[in-house]
Amino acid sequence: MSQAEGHRCGARILLVEDDPPIRRFLSTTLTARGYVVEAVDSLAAARLACTGRPPEVVLLDLGLPDGDGVDLVRELRGWSQLPIVVLSARGQEEDKVRALDAGADDYLVKPFGVPELLARLRVAERHASRGGAEEVAWTWTADGHAFGLDATRRRCWRRDGDAEAEVRLTPTEFRLLLCLARHHGKVLTHVQLLREVWGPQHDGDVAYLRVYLGQLRAKLEPEPAQPRWLLTEPGVGYRLVSADGG
Ligand code: CA
Repeated sequence: MSQAEGHRCGARILLVEDDPPIRRFLSTTLTARGYVVEAVDSLAAARLACTGRPPEVVLLDLGLPDGDGVDLVRELRGWSQLPIVVLSARGQEEDKVRALDAGADDYLVKPFGVPELLARLRVAERHASRGGAEEVAWTWTADGHAFGLDATRRRCWRRDGDAEAEVRLTPTEFRLLLCLARHHGKVLTHVQLLREVWGPQHDGDVAYLRVYLGQLRAKLEPEPAQPRWLLTEPGVGYRLVSADGG
């Protein structure tokens, strides 16, 4: 996706993390990148920090001494769409998924690298700043390959080198791809995708997703077994990314 990231320097981040070395490291790193960081170590302090002038982004550890970070996600979503990126420990897929289903925007698994952290924050901020403006057409490129989706014309195309061709999508494939495209860069959980594409009575039908994702990859990816765009987030869901990680 070729578009300026438009990173706003000085976005105010509320960092909620009870592990002192991680908290210090993240504070220092993000401050050095121009973010204004308020770091707290408990749910109670996070709630306090969200009153008055709320932060622009929340970076939230889930295991906190006075409770579960997912509760804060739910509370915040009661009145705000501010971006929330969850920090989770390896192996805690269930917590991560609960946080995403409760309305968190994305997650990072510890230990994570700084470039990954910054990329996730950029995506979260971009989704927040886009607000209600609805995109209707997208193009994804990688290594001389590309595909595009036009929501208005209900059209999908693919280019490999000089050869461009229409891609025929079934209505379900189209709805699934459109859902991923509207949230590109962001992880969508199985439940979020199933509800959006098939409706709320299909929460448990993860096998549908596997089948349709496989079909989309076969139609769009140059090497379907090694997807560049339609990525699996193990135990969580799927994410449509561009070559630059957005
Ligand atoms: Ca913790």
